Amino acid sequence: SACQPLPVGAQPKRVTRTVDVRWGDHVVKLGGSAPVVVQSMTNTDTVDAIATAIQVKELARAGSELVRITVNTPEAAREVPAIREQLDRMGVNVPLVGDFHYNGHKLLADFPECAQALSKYRINPGNMGGGKRRDDNFAKMIEIACRYDKAVRIGVNWGSLDHELMARMMDENNQRAHPWTAQAVMRDALVFSAISNAQRAQELGLDGKRIVLSCKVSHVQDLITVYQDLSARCDYALHLGLTEAGMGSKGIVASTAALAVLLQQGIGDTIRISLTPEPGGDRAREVVVAQEILQTMGLRAFTPMVVACPGCGRTSSTVFQELANDIQGYLRDQMPVWKDLYPGVETMNVAVMGCVVNGPGESRHADIGISLPGTGEVPSAPVYVDGERVVTLKGDTIAQEFQTIVQNYVER
Ligand code: SF4
Repeated sequence: SACQPLPVGAQPKRVTRTVDVRWGDHVVKLGGSAPVVVQSMTNTDTVDAIATAIQVKELARAGSELVRITVNTPEAAREVPAIREQLDRMGVNVPLVGDFHYNGHKLLADFPECAQALSKYRINPGNMGGGKRRDDNFAKMIEIACRYDKAVRIGVNWGSLDHELMARMMDENNQRAHPWTAQAVMRDALVFSAISNAQRAQELGLDGKRIVLSCKVSHVQDLITVYQDLSARCDYALHLGLTEAGMGSKGIVASTAALAVLLQQGIGDTIRISLTPEPGGDRAREVVVAQEILQTMGLRAFTPMVVACPGCGRTSSTVFQELANDIQGYLRDQMPVWKDLYPGVETMNVAVMGCVVNGPGESRHADIGISLPGTGEVPSAPVYVDGERVVTLKGDTIAQEFQTIVQNYVER
């Protein structure tokens, strides 16, 4: 008998509690049936309120739906309300998340306007001191989150795991008849730390619908295992990210490999791609990568996507590569305006192909496609719209004319 076609697509998103992250009337929903949210983090000195506000604006313009800022000193905490004010003045309503380590309890208590201006606090239970001091500091931060009705991410990290917890779990492991590897104990400790701290936050009065969890590690297989375990053991909203992913293609590939597996399994409510920027590099790159992961997996759509062939010996020039690049840049640049004017434009597909081998076929499958001439072909470029060949472009103005066709299509 004939084989049945395999099902296509990601597993349904796992049901988690929905967390509202608010600034004014603007609400970003994490978890539940909400789409996976893209977030990012600034790398400016928060004390420099202007530079930080500008970078937050750039990240938000690129599509970051939440932006995290470092709040590490009294000087930084003092500037947070000014950053918020600048953003409000510029009409940027993206909620701000404060990233706290070591002294968050003190900064939030000493700077109530900072506590108020932030929409969410990131708490790392591994960086709050030890023993009773840690418990007190944690309780203080949760009490402030309750007072101002803020969401909290309890974010544990491989590199700053609670030492006492780890030592206790290693001791328990040594009593086992068949001890686990140290790596497995550490993974278990991460998950245990996140969930037990979330439960403690609830005991302290924080609603479970104000809690997001993360367990960040820097190796792909560990991250996948940790989140599968975390997801099976709780229904808190989950923040996914591979920490210290690295530079350039390595960071992108490692993050994509880890997150794609989890997202395909329906795990993850918000993602951040932690890329080490190249010197002078664009911080918003991490937002673009996060969007591209979600869009290429068919989970969300942010901007029209360009399908382009890689090129080969059949192409006589790099014209089609430049055209593909220009068109993708043009589409991305237009999106802040287009997304309000032309709802649904983000699902559009554009093909830019290098020769007749796959060019016409791929172009017909796209909403708009162009097949540029390869080596030895007639120097003309047929354009396809909604699967039909509508015009053939020739000469030196092919790129401009094609861009006009794309623009007219969007407007129509
Ligand atoms: Fe090469 Fe043509 Fe295929 Fe592009 S479409 S990779 S130019 S054969």
